[in-house]
Amino acid sequence: MPESSDHASIINSTSPDESEELNHQSIFKHFFYESPFASYSCNKEGYVTVFNQAAVELWGRTPEIGKDLYCGSWRIYHPDGKQMQLSDSPMALALKEGRAYDNFLITIERPDRTIKNVMLYARPIFDKNKCQIGTHSILVDVTNMDVTDKKQAILSAIVESTDNAIISKNLDGKVTSWNPGAQQIFGYTESEMVGQSILKIIPADRQTEEIEILDRLKKGERIEHLQTMRLTKSGKEVPISLTISPVRDSWGIIIGASKIARDITEELRIQKAIKKNTQNLEILNALGKVILEKLDVKAVLQKVTDATTKITGAEFGAFFYNAVNEEGENLRLFSISGTEIDSFEKLGMPMNTQLFDLTFKDKQVVRSANIASDARYGSNGPHHGIPVGHMPVASYMAVPVISTSGEVIGSLLFGHRQENVFTTEHEDIIGSVASQAAVALENSTLFEGIKVLSAKKDEFIALASHELKTPITSIKGYLQISARTEKDELGRKFIGKALAQVDKLDSLVTDLLDSSKIVAGKIQFNLAHFDLYTLLLDVIDTFKYANKTHEIIVMDSQCDYMVFADQQRIEQVLINLLSNAVKYSPKADKVYVSTTSAQGSVTISIRDEGMGISETQKHLIFTRFYRADGPSNISGLGLGLYLTKEIIERHHGSIHVKSVLGKGSNFYFSLPLAKVD
Ligand code: ADP
Repeated sequence: MPESSDHASIINSTSPDESEELNHQSIFKHFFYESPFASYSCNKEGYVTVFNQAAVELWGRTPEIGKDLYCGSWRIYHPDGKQMQLSDSPMALALKEGRAYDNFLITIERPDRTIKNVMLYARPIFDKNKCQIGTHSILVDVTNMDVTDKKQAILSAIVESTDNAIISKNLDGKVTSWNPGAQQIFGYTESEMVGQSILKIIPADRQTEEIEILDRLKKGERIEHLQTMRLTKSGKEVPISLTISPVRDSWGIIIGASKIARDITEELRIQKAIKKNTQNLEILNALGKVILEKLDVKAVLQKVTDATTKITGAEFGAFFYNAVNEEGENLRLFSISGTEIDSFEKLGMPMNTQLFDLTFKDKQVVRSANIASDARYGSNGPHHGIPVGHMPVASYMAVPVISTSGEVIGSLLFGHRQENVFTTEHEDIIGSVASQAAVALENSTLFEGIKVLSAKKDEFIALASHELKTPITSIKGYLQISARTEKDELGRKFIGKALAQVDKLDSLVTDLLDSSKIVAGKIQFNLAHFDLYTLLLDVIDTFKYANKTHEIIVMDSQCDYMVFADQQRIEQVLINLLSNAVKYSPKADKVYVSTTSAQGSVTISIRDEGMGISETQKHLIFTRFYRADGPSNISGLGLGLYLTKEIIERHHGSIHVKSVLGKGSNFYFSLPLAKVD
């Protein structure tokens, strides 16, 4: 420790007692050298004489006695960064002027280039005769304090400038600080709130919330992002997100709480809008599917009305047709959503009003915040916006549904008792739904027209085939009698040919009649147990007589396939498939038949080496009246496979085809085997 012979000169003891004097000196020495504050003294020439360890550490160097003037610092600066001459330093001035220079902020640069901010206290030292003998200076390192101050300043600036309310309160719930953000959200000024209970901004029905919050705070818990409501000075409730943390004193004891409150009005509005949009999209998606899939006018209109009523938030929605019906009414209510149909029907029709004309004739969208007081419609007779007896309506919106050819098919109407419910956004959404609905309605209407025509065709086929059946049966009977009684050989030959043609005709008419019965759901089966394999062999035997062009080869034959089915209908299936195999393989001379059984069912396959069927037509050949592309000289009605499939499926079986164009086809069907008791 550096020690100058002069250092006793700074001790200004007045004690008369020698030993007490010594005691004082040693205490003072200890106090000086061990002080955590940098202290040093200079003689009256300004040379550093005594200094303590704290000063050496602060300067970053040890001054040279008799050389360093005024200070042990390497370099010193003004607070603004300008270098300070030692001769101008407060230490030099204190010596020169013989007065104290306190609280001077200077910056010291140390030999290692590090910087220290210090608070300087320089004072003159006088001897017993009041003669100045030097100076004594204390340097307080404020480098870190400065950072803390800066931090404090930044934090204060944040608290002052944030939009969030930052409030502190004590454990009694009394407000202790209130920032401008709090004033902005709640309307109260700092002076109006500090010292007041926080309950002032808590709505009456939520006051217990504060008790719970305080309880949790006392336990040291932090409350994060609590969504709640608070009351503003004007009495309005505002949604906020609250984060509350306990505030502790330097001993760690909880003395209050700091609250950060964020106004989430806008956030909630956006969340609500997103939710609503998502819901609308879901509704529109589901609606789009229905519109595409359903070809049913009634169903489409009801779905459109329901969905659009939901999207607009209307109390009721309705679809009115713009067509003249048998009674001459030209605006007919078709579907309704959100209210009883009676509330409209009792109004009486037609409902032509000037208001409706805009939509139904002029193709305009009409949207009114309050139709009854709207200057555009409210003053127009006879209804003044709303017809007499109409359910109360304020908000009104009507969107025309326009066909692709530009006619107004109808209109979607929406109403609500409250004012201002419908927006331009609703107008846009409903507008696009309406144009989709128009297409769907046109398709559905066309489809319904086709259905009517198709029903008429079925009716005709059923009637015609029934009417044809009776004369064919009697012609057949007369021909059979004639064949027996005819003596002339040529005559018998002709009768035989006529009979064959009548049989062909009979089978065509029978197929027609059967198909009508299937469509009308009138086909009936006489079920019985029989052996399918025996039936197959019988059918093949009979078939061989009439078909000499092809050899029918039965392969992999197995016996005893008992089924529970209509034998006559299964026989019809076998004849159909065998006839087709022969008919559609004119250049071949073989047909292969095989049977297998597995997992409770029997499968019969009939394979030919004929013209085959293209991949795209494979699925169509089982539909009614469908005939695949092929030579035009092969006759048929396109009913055989339709009947075959219907018969097999109604016996809980299935039928499939494998085919290669130009190579041949393999039709195979399965039937469940009869259960053996
Ligand atoms: P039809 O024989 O009276 O036309 P089907 O319903 O029996 O009616 O057959 C429908 C269509 O399927 C036929 O027109 C023909 O194009 C095709 N088809 C049926 N069987 C075969 C087959 N074995 N080979 C090739 N095409 C076939």
